[in-house]
Amino acid sequence: MKVVKNISLKNLNTFGVDVKSKYFVEIYSEEELKQALNSGEYSNHQKLILGGGSNILFTKDYDGLVIKNSIPGIKLLDEDSKKVIVEAGAGVIWDELVKYCVDYNFGGIENLSYIPGTVGAAPIQNIGAYGQELEEIFYELNGIYIDSCETKNFNKSECSFSYRSSIFKNELKNKFIITSVKLKLNKNPNVNLSYNSVKKEVEKKNIKQPTIKDIREIVIAIRKSKLPDPVEIGNAGSFFKNPVITKEKFKVLKEEYPDLKHFFVDENNVKIFAAWLIEKCGWKGKRFGDTGTHKLQPLVIVNYGNASGKEIYEISKMIKSDVKTIFYITLKNEVNIIN
Ligand SMILES: Cc1cc2nc3c(=O)[nH]c(=O)nc-3n(C[C@H](O)[C@H](O)[C@H](O)COP(=O)(O)OP(=O)(O)OC[C@H]3O[C@@H](n4cnc5c(N)ncnc54)[C@H](O)[C@@H]3O)c2cc1C
Repeated sequence: MKVVKNISLKNLNTFGVDVKSKYFVEIYSEEELKQALNSGEYSNHQKLILGGGSNILFTKDYDGLVIKNSIPGIKLLDEDSKKVIVEAGAGVIWDELVKYCVDYNFGGIENLSYIPGTVGAAPIQNIGAYGQELEEIFYELNGIYIDSCETKNFNKSECSFSYRSSIFKNELKNKFIITSVKLKLNKNPNVNLSYNSVKKEVEKKNIKQPTIKDIREIVIAIRKSKLPDPVEIGNAGSFFKNPVITKEKFKVLKEEYPDLKHFFVDENNVKIFAAWLIEKCGWKGKRFGDTGTHKLQPLVIVNYGNASGKEIYEISKMIKSDVKTIFYITLKNEVNIIN
C-alpha cells in the first residue's frame, strides 16, 4: 500500500475533470483498506472512496485522501437446484461480474449489462437499467465504517434500496466503505422483456426463445447506440434522476403538455422523464464553452474537452433552475457532487 501525494484524478473520473487529490492510495484487500484508514498521518483528513469514477463530479481539488477500491475476486459461494449465490470484491468491474454470471447462465443480472463502474458502487445508487434494479438480485454486502474501522454486514432490507438510492447515499454517505457484494441469481432464468426497446429488438431479430446471453447482447447494443462513450466524450451518464410527482400535479401538466413523457409508478405517483423536461426547456445539445448537454441525450451533461468540474456543476444548476421555472419540478442529482 503506497500513498502518493498531489496526484491528478483526470483519468480516474469519467467526466475527465482535471483535479488533484492531496493524498491517494489504491487498495487491493480489506486489510490494506484498514491500514489506510488507521494510518495516523491521514486520520484528520477527509476520505473519499472511489470506484470507477463514473458517477462522480469533482468541482475542485480534493483536500484529503482518495482511496481507490480495487479489491478483486469473483466466487461462487453457495447453490441449490434453483439459486446460486455469487460474491464479488468491491473493486471488480461491474460488467465483468455480469459477463461471468451470464457465461454460467446465472440469470437476473443481464439487463444491467455494460453499466460502467465497480461492484462496490452498485448498491450506492441501486443501479438500474432496462427494467431491472440491483435490489432484485441483491443478497448482502460487507464493508467497513470509516471512523471506527468496524466491519458490518448489511442484508437487503438494511440497505433501504429505492429508485437510484440506498442508505449508503443518505445516512451512511461517506461513512461506510463496501468491500464485497453477494448476489442471488437464478440457475433456470426467465428473461426480462419488460422494457419496450429490449422486447422490440428481440422481435426484430426474430428470436423465439431468447436466452440471457441474447438479452445481454441486445442491451449492450442499445446502450452503445444511445449513450455517449466516456472514453470519447467525458460524462457520467444521466446527471439527474427522473422526478416522481403526484397524480394531481401530473394531470395539470398533462393538460398543458399533452406529449409529456411519463409512466405511472403506482396509483398516486407518476415518473416524468427528466430528459423530456430538459429538452422542452431548450437544453438539448446546448453548449457553453467545453460543457453542455449531449446532442442526442439531454439528460447527459458532457465535457467536450477541458471543462472544469465547477463549469459542469454550474450548467447542471442552470438546467435545474429552468426546469423549476417552467414545470415547477425540482430535479435531483443522480451524480455525486464533490464540493
Ligand atoms: C455512460 C454511462 C452510463 C451509465 N448508465 C447507468 C445506468 O444505466 N444505470 C445506473 O444506475 N447508473 C449508470 N451510470 C452511473 C454509474 O455507472 C453507476 O452509478 C456506477 O455504479 C458507478 O460506479 P463507480 O465505481 O464508477 O462509482 P464512483 O463514481 O467511483 O462512485 C460513486 C459514488 O459511490 C461511492 N463509492 C464508490 N465505491 C464505493 C464503495 N466501495 N463503498 C462505498 N462507497 C463507494 C463514491 O464515493 C461516490 O459517492 C452510468 C454512467 C456512465 C458514465
